[in-house]
Amino acid sequence: MKAMHATASETLGIYASIPFCKAKCSFCNFASGVFGSGALPGYLERLCAEMQQARAFAEALEMQLPERADSVYLGGGTPSLLEPDAVEQLFGELQANFAVDPNAEITVECAPGQVSSRTLEALLRAGVNRLSFGVQSFVDAECAATGRLHTGNACRQELARMQQAGVARLGLDLVVGLPHQTEASWRFSVEQAIESGVEHVSIYLLETDEDSRLGREVLTGGTRYGAGSLPEEDRAADWYQAACDWLGAAGIAQYEISNFARAGGQSRHNRKYWERAPYLGFGLDAHSMLRGGQDPQATDVRWANAKEMATYMGPGLGERGFHRTVDRVDRRAALEEALFTGLRLVEGVSLAALREQFGRWVDEVEFGGMDGLLAQNGDRLQLTSAGRLVSNEVFQRLLLEPAGV
Ligand code: SF4
Repeated sequence: MKAMHATASETLGIYASIPFCKAKCSFCNFASGVFGSGALPGYLERLCAEMQQARAFAEALEMQLPERADSVYLGGGTPSLLEPDAVEQLFGELQANFAVDPNAEITVECAPGQVSSRTLEALLRAGVNRLSFGVQSFVDAECAATGRLHTGNACRQELARMQQAGVARLGLDLVVGLPHQTEASWRFSVEQAIESGVEHVSIYLLETDEDSRLGREVLTGGTRYGAGSLPEEDRAADWYQAACDWLGAAGIAQYEISNFARAGGQSRHNRKYWERAPYLGFGLDAHSMLRGGQDPQATDVRWANAKEMATYMGPGLGERGFHRTVDRVDRRAALEEALFTGLRLVEGVSLAALREQFGRWVDEVEFGGMDGLLAQNGDRLQLTSAGRLVSNEVFQRLLLEPAGV
């Protein structure tokens, strides 16, 4: 294994998970829960210990961290529930361990109605310059059916309050395919998002897997949590497509499968995931990735923290006292990842850049036979809008045969 070094131009993205919520939404398949505020101090202590040991951990893996961080993202969970002293503790630890650029993008995920003015002030004092609101729907019946604690009106008021407080960069998430959603109600939510004036909108198709209560109900044919009133998948796909057009017409252009932004409003932090730039994640179920360089023998490294709170907080038995799984990513697997994440971007991937990074492996990929799904535009390979709807199928077909090694 070769020792790896970050290049001078590389910058780091830092993610911290605050998985505490007031209530668990029926569709939520994230590692988050109602853990009780008594659990928070111990959790923050562990998360801060992770930050303190990040550099040593990377070095033990023979990787080096980029010196500067230019994006920070607090997700979860509901980090807007943090009290001001917890905000100060977290950002103090961050600044003590990383060189965060003065112009770094610093985002916090918020639930509408769950950002006290004291917390908002503490966040702004700490340098937070971007807030992302989990709205999911502006329709009261849809919010209530999925266990969201807000109404459409509360969302509108909350976004206006943030604008008055001087938060320049605001985003919101919507979910298409929710119980009780209709074409008209979906259009209403998207129109409300446009009218709110936010610079960034994310649209997620409802996932019905066994990691959420609603998903389990759907998979077992039940009707609880509104499972009996889900729109058909094809209809939801049509509504997603329509939303791409409505947002585009309003100047909120699609730049990734699920993400749309006004000019200058793209998420720097999330682009790091799609561009395979290095990032560190701290907290429950957080993921990290460091790149090992372009040498054919170089491997990238990714690691993931425990998904279960009891395990994450449990006595340290894993990697340097933390419960983590560490994977080495060889050049073939790294190219696959670069294709899967890069093709999520509307601008696609540059074939020349891929050749420079991955050399001969690029010639092993079978790009043919996907007319209408993949298109080449000069040097760039892009998913078509039809391809974006079935992106997982396209990615599956691009997988390289290990036998080609
Ligand atoms: S959707 Fe957001 S607020 Fe709801 S349970 Fe999941 S993380 Fe918490």
